[in-house]
Amino acid sequence: MLADAYGRVATDLRVSLTDRCNLRCSYCMPPEGLDWLPKPTLLTDDEVARLVRIGVERLGITEVRYTGGEPLLRRGLPGIVARTAELHPRPEISLTTNGIGLDRLAGPLRAAGLDRINVSLDTLRPDVFRSLSHRDRLGDVLAGLAAAAAAGLVPVKVNAVLMRGLNEGETAPLLRFCLEHGYELRFIEQMPLDAQHGWRRENMVTAEEILDALSAEFTLTPDDPQARGSAPAERFLVGGGPARVGVIGSVTRPFCGACDRVRLTADGQVRNCLFAREESNLRDPMRSGADDEELAGIWRRAVAAKLPGHGINDPGFLQPSRPMSAIGG
Ligand code: SAM
Repeated sequence: MLADAYGRVATDLRVSLTDRCNLRCSYCMPPEGLDWLPKPTLLTDDEVARLVRIGVERLGITEVRYTGGEPLLRRGLPGIVARTAELHPRPEISLTTNGIGLDRLAGPLRAAGLDRINVSLDTLRPDVFRSLSHRDRLGDVLAGLAAAAAAGLVPVKVNAVLMRGLNEGETAPLLRFCLEHGYELRFIEQMPLDAQHGWRRENMVTAEEILDALSAEFTLTPDDPQARGSAPAERFLVGGGPARVGVIGSVTRPFCGACDRVRLTADGQVRNCLFAREESNLRDPMRSGADDEELAGIWRRAVAAKLPGHGINDPGFLQPSRPMSAIGG
């Protein structure tokens, strides 16, 4: 088991498959992009498959989510998903993506064993999409969403980050769009994880503001709190249900006490928290011949050292040196 000193057990593994992305969302990276991780430092497909197998077979991981960067840019993704689906006990397999290229890949990924998908969509307006992501790809994202639903990756979940002065007016339109298409929308509070260190608390659109904006147009009823478990989203029934909307108040309503997540970066570092300032290297011992039990031991010690909370609201908070794109969201 991956247990920490506060009684939490990590069962949900988030694996970043690349730090590269084809968008430049301003809450994540600067318009000119970043210096990508050098190829030799990245885990190969076989190395990813081995570490995921160790997580599932020896450490109690029951859900594997592939992310990035943009995971659809990883050529070997369908093969990695297929190898994950062969593990015993078979974990739930999910993907977080910006949706670009999903029109081609949704079917093959579903066939490979992908169970669930989250697609990021922050705006329905092409001009705002361009301002926010510095790319003109809204049409590709919408096509990707439709392809995910057609491939049976349902319910398709949509992640949205609101930014003041940019897309904050789209709270209700985004929900209306998702209700019309049968997608389940979740708003995520913007976190201090951008490479430019440009996050400012006063510019963050809070969970409370999001709920106020939605309540002006929709009747929201809190979903059964028991059903939330370790999920980051507080969920609400819309108009009495069955449709739901989620709000992830990572900053103003932290849920660290129920966290069951652990992360593996594309270059093989275990992170016990999105905001961790220390990492544990699995790649180098693996490349030096460590056996599965030695790697599992490093991983257990990494999770055992997890802090009680992310500390964003502490006066001494320091942003992690890796940006979100290199951690894996
Ligand atoms: N490229 C993929 C995507 O767009 O979904 C996967 C990686 S992305 C880092 C994963 C999620 O993190 C996206 O939904 C994105 O909106 C969210 N995200 C990135 N930076 C964020 C930030 N500073 N605060 C909150 N969410 C963020």
